Amino acid sequence: MTKAQDKTPPLSRRNLLAAAAGASVVAASPLAGATLPASSVRRWDSSTDVLVLGSGAAGICAAIEARDAGVEVAVLEALPQPGGASALSGGVIYAGGGTALQQALGINDSVEAMYDFLVAASGPQLDREKAQRYCEDSAAHFDWVRGHGVSYSSQFFQGKGLPMGEESLYFSGGELAWPAREIARPAPRGHVPGEPGMNGGRSLMRTLLEVARSRAIVLQTHARARHLVTESDGRITGVVVEVAGVPQYWRARRGVVLACGGFVHNKAMLQLYAPQLAASQVPWGGAGEQGDGINMGIAAGAAAPNLHQGFAISPIYPPEQVIAGVVVNGQGQRFLAEDAYHGVIGDRICYQQAGRAFLVCDAESAYPQLQDNFPIVASTPSLGELARAANLPSGALQHTVAYYNRHAELGADPLFNKDPRYIRPLRGRPYTLYDLSLDRAFTPVHTLGGLRTTVDGAVLNSWGEAIPGLFAAGRTTAGLPGAPYIASGLSLGDCTYFGRRAGRSAARELA
Ligand SMILES: Cc1cc2nc3c(=O)[nH]c(=O)nc-3n(C[C@H](O)[C@H](O)[C@H](O)COP(=O)(O)OP(=O)(O)OC[C@H]3O[C@@H](n4cnc5c(N)ncnc54)[C@H](O)[C@@H]3O)c2cc1C
Repeated sequence: MTKAQDKTPPLSRRNLLAAAAGASVVAASPLAGATLPASSVRRWDSSTDVLVLGSGAAGICAAIEARDAGVEVAVLEALPQPGGASALSGGVIYAGGGTALQQALGINDSVEAMYDFLVAASGPQLDREKAQRYCEDSAAHFDWVRGHGVSYSSQFFQGKGLPMGEESLYFSGGELAWPAREIARPAPRGHVPGEPGMNGGRSLMRTLLEVARSRAIVLQTHARARHLVTESDGRITGVVVEVAGVPQYWRARRGVVLACGGFVHNKAMLQLYAPQLAASQVPWGGAGEQGDGINMGIAAGAAAPNLHQGFAISPIYPPEQVIAGVVVNGQGQRFLAEDAYHGVIGDRICYQQAGRAFLVCDAESAYPQLQDNFPIVASTPSLGELARAANLPSGALQHTVAYYNRHAELGADPLFNKDPRYIRPLRGRPYTLYDLSLDRAFTPVHTLGGLRTTVDGAVLNSWGEAIPGLFAAGRTTAGLPGAPYIASGLSLGDCTYFGRRAGRSAARELA
């Protein structure tokens, strides 16, 4: 999105009414999120059965399923290019319970183990019904994705972190970290299109968009939905869309699917709903993630849980050698096992440590090459000097390292049960202190809260009632992923799977 687009205020209700009466308008005063009564619409410019707003993974999967259910479908995209954050992403989809790829690689997994992991590692916000459905259908969902042409290699990646080669299956979350490894039998569930580099999302979206085109799904870019149109009984029957500053009126005979992504690029919303994330220098998402879908849903009466939640990714490894170091907070104390998944490390720093943390390494565990993700605070032979450089409380860091080393001699980590493979005393000088703080380090953030929906994508109000004609999916909703973000691929898994369900439901809605 260009800066000019960014600053465009939403069309005001007064101007909308004027436009509905036939005048051409440019928005003047913002009245974000208001719905427009259908009685004010004089003339529909276009109509379809199912109208999908947003062309990321959630929107395109919704569109494909709705079309396959035999109805007319149009997708409107605010930006000049389709694909959203989904196309920028690593393309990892979290899938398990015995997918074809897991089986081909001899991996033993079950629906129960996958579900148990999600429950054990997620926060209390986890929607257990969504988790259950997702785990039960996960293998079939992966078949659907692959069956539509997304290509996966039959290679397994042994390392920690996203494979950058052609491998397509890896441990993408904290399945091997304690206590998850004792609660649920670990299995690798990160399914990533086998393209070298971080091109999985591009490959995923290129393929899904081709499928949409082959199904004669209308795709209009430069079309930013601004307001939902409501009947007097609350049913959503259309959308006001801004095209080159002019409102157009799209009628949706069966339903509207909100799939506009989250709000990581809307600074005001971030400050209002998720101020912890706002400190990050790296808002990760598509430029179109301005919160439009969430705001339109709220204006129609939807509940919007977990808006403060997001992922904060602190990718301290690879290289794996740094996991032998210790991560400490602003008091110089450890607060997690360093082999935790990146999303868990970032989450703890962001939400539990006021955004401040450091990684202490000795000569052997330090980054071998110059890197600029985590600035060096100091590198000295003395822990005391290190602590002073970071302004840590006197003696705290020395105490932390002494305690850690005492147990590390025996291969143990009584506080957090770090994987013994990474435990050894920190002795080789110099020590180096890296800044992992949210506002200094490379800590990408992305919003995860959004509209409340059923497993079938119906948007619910605070009383748990469905708003007729309104559906949503992906990061416009509060779906499977929450804080902590426990595995790469959960977001795209949720977007693609629940996007499909939302599209099917919208197609089934009576015209
Ligand atoms: C670099 C990066 C890597 C990532 N890697 C992974 C990964 O490997 N696995 C994973 O699970 N997650 C990953 N994520 C997160 C994941 O990409 C997103 O959570 C997911 O793609 C969201 O999909 P979506 O369909 O909800 O939204 P999007 O893909 O963002 O699509 C929303 C679309 O709606 C459009 N839009 C917005 N407002 C309007 C409007 N008013 N009218 C019309 N259109 C509108 C937007 O322009 C956008 O095209 C990554 C994110 C980033 C940025």
